[in-house]
Amino acid sequence: MIRVLPPDVAAKIAAGEVVERPASVVKELVENALDAGASTVSIELEEGGRRLIRISDNGHGIATDEVPLAFERHATSKLQTLDDLDHIHSLGFRGEALASISSVSQMTLVTRPDDEQAGVRATLENGEIIQIEPAASPRGTMITVENLFYNVPARLKFLKKTTTERGAISALITRYAMAYPGVRFQLTHGKQELLRTNGSGNLHTVISEVYGVEVASQMIEVSLEGGALRPDLHPVGVYGYTSQPALNRANRSHITLFVNGRWVQDSSLTHAVVQAYHTMMVGGRYPVAILMITVPPEQVDVNVHPAKTQVRFRQQGAVFSTIQRAVRRVLIDQAELPTVRDDIIWGSPDWQARRDRLAQVTSSRMNQMGIDLDLDDPGQYRKQTAEQSDEPNEPPRRKRKIPVMRVVGQVGDSYVITEGPSGIYLIDQNAAHQRVLFERFLAERQHEEPASQELMEPVVVELLAEQIAAFEEQAEEVVGLGFSVEVFGHNTLRIRALPALLADSDPVDALMAILGQIEGEASPSIETRQERLAARMCREAAVRIGQTLSFAEMQALLRQLEECEAPQTDPYGHPTMIHISAEQLAREFGRASRLDESQTG
Ligand code: ADP
Ligand code: MG
Repeated sequence: MIRVLPPDVAAKIAAGEVVERPASVVKELVENALDAGASTVSIELEEGGRRLIRISDNGHGIATDEVPLAFERHATSKLQTLDDLDHIHSLGFRGEALASISSVSQMTLVTRPDDEQAGVRATLENGEIIQIEPAASPRGTMITVENLFYNVPARLKFLKKTTTERGAISALITRYAMAYPGVRFQLTHGKQELLRTNGSGNLHTVISEVYGVEVASQMIEVSLEGGALRPDLHPVGVYGYTSQPALNRANRSHITLFVNGRWVQDSSLTHAVVQAYHTMMVGGRYPVAILMITVPPEQVDVNVHPAKTQVRFRQQGAVFSTIQRAVRRVLIDQAELPTVRDDIIWGSPDWQARRDRLAQVTSSRMNQMGIDLDLDDPGQYRKQTAEQSDEPNEPPRRKRKIPVMRVVGQVGDSYVITEGPSGIYLIDQNAAHQRVLFERFLAERQHEEPASQELMEPVVVELLAEQIAAFEEQAEEVVGLGFSVEVFGHNTLRIRALPALLADSDPVDALMAILGQIEGEASPSIETRQERLAARMCREAAVRIGQTLSFAEMQALLRQLEECEAPQTDPYGHPTMIHISAEQLAREFGRASRLDESQTG
């Protein structure tokens, strides 16, 4: 039987599109405050927003007699005709947020516009106003949302942990704080202040309030004026900051883009920023960037999804290339070139220098690589028969997964060339070492505490509130790797010890790499979260591409790879080696067909 749904059921279903979680409530209410021209927006949360979300602003308020209208679905003061959709200047326009949020929570609104003496307080339950009365109020609006989803048990079940919701909300507010540097934001969770900006109007100041002074000092200004009204200018404008290549992160989540003041999550535009760093940043690392993109409003459609985080451009390609060029240009002008590491001498004709250097690195880096030297068979691969050990107590060796090999040399300070019984092998030194470290770590973990190295002095890191939340959520696993880290006041962690594997790394980089992993980045070939973190740590600790290895180091690496359970791939499933068979070589040289000749010499 077909029935028309009762209005409150229909309302709750529709609300689901706008209100998914506490962060979406905060987003809508903050956008309303900004649309109302507020210069101060304060956000209070309890229990990650599920108990309470309160947003107070000093914007223009709502006229007393219009308050009931504000909660009607499709009631908005921001749009009148269909044409207006083509040039939206406000963040809201659908007239849905208050209606939706009030239908799935207990809401109170207190508001007073400039030109009225007294304000009004409205209390709602299930989307209906149950009480409305005059009330004293400062200029502006305060909306309190309590017990979100109390009347939609199905949604309630899916809410994440308090730390997760809190992290999502601080991620959101930090973005808005950066997009609106002239607005003072204050975010508190219970008694804890998570963020406060001073509203000075200076984006660089906000970046240091959000990311810390250290990060801010490594950000370069991007400024490409654009204007629809100035025929001499390109219509697309880009303003903001992007990081020196040396400042980078393990994922894209620190590339923040705003289009006409609206935070968008658009993988194509994000890619434009990443591309601008092409060849300047190692693969798998991403810049930190905060860019405000301005596009003539009629060129962009923000009405793609109710949450309004996606946009469509009339000329996507032009927007993409403008961003990419704007960022690229400042990088080329201002990026500090990374100091060329003096052990990269690939291409140098000075063989004596290379030999000297090799002698040095052999001794200095041996410990760093954690490689047990095994120099009993220099330059020769062990005969297969040598595996049957004479030592009676030695456990029987595992069945070989890869053949025994002899080191021939290193190419490009990146790949180890070896010879095996049936041809040549090219070994990716970084991938191979990751594999070795990974298996060793997992094996050791079964028997003992993770090896850890105390720092001489604890190191303090400033992080985003969302990163702190991410850390807190997985603190146990991070400690399981051998870190000793504690939350230390507002936005700050204190590192006391590092996993032994990372003992030579910069403590902050090491922790950031692991936290970057926590934030995202799936690796399907790894099963548990702990293993994923371990893999990430090994990636951080492994010898790099571009690192000169001594002969002994290469041999030791090979011996250890041979011992691995799964020597063919790194922990992420990338190959560690390429095999070129003897037959293939013969074929390539056309020897297969002139077998007779070769035999006769
Ligand atoms: P929209 O923002 O799409 O117009 P909302 O449901 O979010 O729809 O809000 C409905 C209307 O209520 C807005 O158009 C605005 O007139 C008014 N309003 C909501 N929040 C505020 C606020 N913080 N300050 C002033 N007016 C507000
Ligand atoms: Mg709105």
